Amino acid sequence: MTTRTKVRRAPAILAILLAGTTACAGCQGHVAGSPSALAAGNGAKAGGPTATSTAATGGFLPSGAASALTTKSPRSIASSTAAAAPSPVSPLAGKVVALDPGHNGGNASHAAEIAQLVPQGFGQYKACDTTGTEGPDGYTEHQFNFQVALLVEALLQQRGITVVMTRTDDSSVGPCVDKRAAIGNDAHAAAAVSIHADGGPVGGRGYQLLEAVQSVGGSGVDAASHQLAVDLHATFDRESGLTPSTYIGTNGYEPRDDLAGLNLTTVPKILVECGNMQNADDLAIEESASGRRHIAGAIADGIITFLTSGG
Ligand SMILES: [Zn+2]
Repeated sequence: MTTRTKVRRAPAILAILLAGTTACAGCQGHVAGSPSALAAGNGAKAGGPTATSTAATGGFLPSGAASALTTKSPRSIASSTAAAAPSPVSPLAGKVVALDPGHNGGNASHAAEIAQLVPQGFGQYKACDTTGTEGPDGYTEHQFNFQVALLVEALLQQRGITVVMTRTDDSSVGPCVDKRAAIGNDAHAAAAVSIHADGGPVGGRGYQLLEAVQSVGGSGVDAASHQLAVDLHATFDRESGLTPSTYIGTNGYEPRDDLAGLNLTTVPKILVECGNMQNADDLAIEESASGRRHIAGAIADGIITFLTSGG
């Protein structure tokens, strides 16, 4: 639906916020449809080193003399080539990834602040943020999001990736969703992932990969974002213990036009709903340390797949 993208009035937002168990920011309706076409090629692979001629030494001088007479003997060329050859992890070193744990622990007690309208992109506005959802037992989405984000951060840092977090505690207010997008943009992140959990129907299960129908970054960014979603879809199926959503979207994909954090991105970015906190089976995974490790591993490995394939 597109009508939900219109400017929401503050009283309505407050009503939602005060309602207690609210769906998360990524859960307010959806646009049905299949994901856009796969991203185009991820760039040419680097070629191997070119052959080095042995003619430089002339073939008649002792090797020591040859080394003395030439500034770059075949051996030194070979050595420098070997030194420059990428190790299995070096392509990731220096890459920047933005992680955005949804909501924040202080949001619930600062309803007015998080109800303030902020740009959503394309001339629309929406609330700064929401409180997020929570399980029937009170386990909050903001806590889950933050716990998973910290695990993902550690996994990425182990691979030499620089991680930029949109928030570094679980007790503050905000930042607003437009600022969360700006943090990834300003960092020129190679990939950005917002981490959420959904507040769906009790009988529904599974993860959702939310993509902007259109971002301010343009079609190239949108295609890259979709590739990022495809890469996380594979790792979620393999590692997370969660299924693609059974109640929303299409096979775990869900294009959206009303999410500021995605609309305003200029870098490849998606939002992942890591299961449904209203479903007992999904919640059991989300509440267990083992379950969160598996989910975090799926996120980290999906990002790494994206980065190593040219993202
Ligand atoms: Zn959320």
